[in-house]
Amino acid sequence: MRYSELVDIYEKLEATSSKLGKTGIIADVLKAAPAELLPKLVMLFYGTVFPPWSEEKIGVADKMMIRAVAKAVGMKESEVVASYRKTGDLGLSAEQLIAKKRQKRLAARALDVNKVFDTIQKIARQTGAGSQESKTALIVELLSVAQPKEAKYIVRTVLEQLRMGVAEGIVRDAIAKAFGIDTDIVESAWYVRPDYGEVAKIAKERGVAGLKKIELVIGMPIMVQLAEKAPDLKSAVEAFKRPVLEYKYDGARIAVHKKGDKFWLYTRRLENVTEAFPDVVETCKKALMAKECIVEGEALAIDPKTKRPQPFQRLSQRIKRKYDIAKVAKEIPVNLHVFDIVYLNGRTLFDKSLEERFNILKKTVKPIADKIEFARRLIPKDLKEAEAFYKKALSEGQEGLIVKNLDALYTPGRRVAGGWLKVKPVMETLDLAIIGATWGTGKRAGWLGSLILGIRDPETGKFLECGMLGTGIKEKKTRAEDVTFEDMTKMLKPYIISQSGHDVKIKPKIIIEVAYEEIQKSPTYSSGFALRFPRFIRLRPDKGPAEADDLNRIKALFEIQKGKAPAETGEK
Ligand code: AMP
Repeated sequence: MRYSELVDIYEKLEATSSKLGKTGIIADVLKAAPAELLPKLVMLFYGTVFPPWSEEKIGVADKMMIRAVAKAVGMKESEVVASYRKTGDLGLSAEQLIAKKRQKRLAARALDVNKVFDTIQKIARQTGAGSQESKTALIVELLSVAQPKEAKYIVRTVLEQLRMGVAEGIVRDAIAKAFGIDTDIVESAWYVRPDYGEVAKIAKERGVAGLKKIELVIGMPIMVQLAEKAPDLKSAVEAFKRPVLEYKYDGARIAVHKKGDKFWLYTRRLENVTEAFPDVVETCKKALMAKECIVEGEALAIDPKTKRPQPFQRLSQRIKRKYDIAKVAKEIPVNLHVFDIVYLNGRTLFDKSLEERFNILKKTVKPIADKIEFARRLIPKDLKEAEAFYKKALSEGQEGLIVKNLDALYTPGRRVAGGWLKVKPVMETLDLAIIGATWGTGKRAGWLGSLILGIRDPETGKFLECGMLGTGIKEKKTRAEDVTFEDMTKMLKPYIISQSGHDVKIKPKIIIEVAYEEIQKSPTYSSGFALRFPRFIRLRPDKGPAEADDLNRIKALFEIQKGKAPAETGEK
């Protein structure tokens, strides 16, 4: 295909603002162009020569482009700069200057799409000493044979400034339209091969059957399976005949691709983070025993001393890191908790059940303490066991649980019914008074625990029970901000009003911030409400009893929760 034909399409796209119009234009191109050209064409519609998840960049700045345009037209750089000042667009300047010059030159040779695409990739791949000169020479090579209009689009593409308003959704719809295929099928294929150019090629060559059988390619990321939100643990566990619970770690989802001694790490947004996590690559070199595989896990930042999980914000400092990588890797070590395997030695494992995949995973990964471990999991006997496991996860500082179906196949890119369910506490916190507690026994003798939480009645100013809390208060101090049972006991002791057996009543003086999973109606607690899985967040010494939350607020939150259907964005 001639590049001038693509230029005509660019002009049509620029003149069409509606999505539907653009979809139609692209569908026509996909129908007419040869299949093997489609991957390149689609990238050129996006204004790039690399797939979205590639780390490669074209890397040409204005200064180099000015030099190249000057050389191509035989002018001084200052003349190009003068034109650029007027147009504000080097593409437009190149077009105008070449048009002026062209009368004196021989007619331009025909450029084809392959040649332009390959040369731009070559420009990007020049590195090291002399690369500035060789990049410039390659641009000059293209511009000196280009028609004025062609030059405009070449310059914009090389500068990564071509904006056609062609987003992925438009190409998806164009493929569906061009080949008469259901949009959902096109999209599902893209989950496995997230590059619509490749998907278009397969659709054209092999139709629906080809799209449905699409295999993943090692080294290329996929859109990973996602979790749906469950209202609570009970309904999540009851959703499946054979549920398995796994800790939900608050880190970053990482897919590790291994092919011989080559490794790639991808986040769930398809970012290539291989360079940012050399420590994880090293670990995987030792731990992954297959020749080729793709395993998935959650990379969790841990405190190097205590090994406790660190919040996601800490890990995020490593994700886009470009310098001092080795230093931050030491400061913020990560532990990869692996939970799935989707590819092994040439075979995609989507059609195996979770149970089978986990058995394969166990044979493929050799855990290394604090570096790579299997996600903690439990097949619960009953709900009680499930609840205890949930509590354990929260008290260890994890985010919650993911409940999975042992019989389910792997479904890329979707929150599917019958797939994964996430259960985590609702984070709308309440500031509550401690109005009672129980003296501990055994290991906890001498400490007050099982704190009774009180919510203020705005009518009477009295505090009414709304829950009992033990989670989140620590046995030992491992971080400065930790509050231990001993600290709590010291604070509460002066306010004990009465005692009966092990139970004490406490004057509402100490206010704490509490997170929980759900507010329930309660016939037993005097407030009429009970917090499910309450968890201590922090002390609120800045608040007195009068500033604690009251019944009106808990009622309002209860109402919101009843009608809640939070929008799922799929983003962290
Ligand atoms: P969310 O980000 O709230 O949609 O929850 C889904 C995310 O939880 C996944 O994409 C993973 O990054 C993360 N996650 C943590 N632990 C697990 C686990 N055991 N299994 C699957 N996903 C997990």
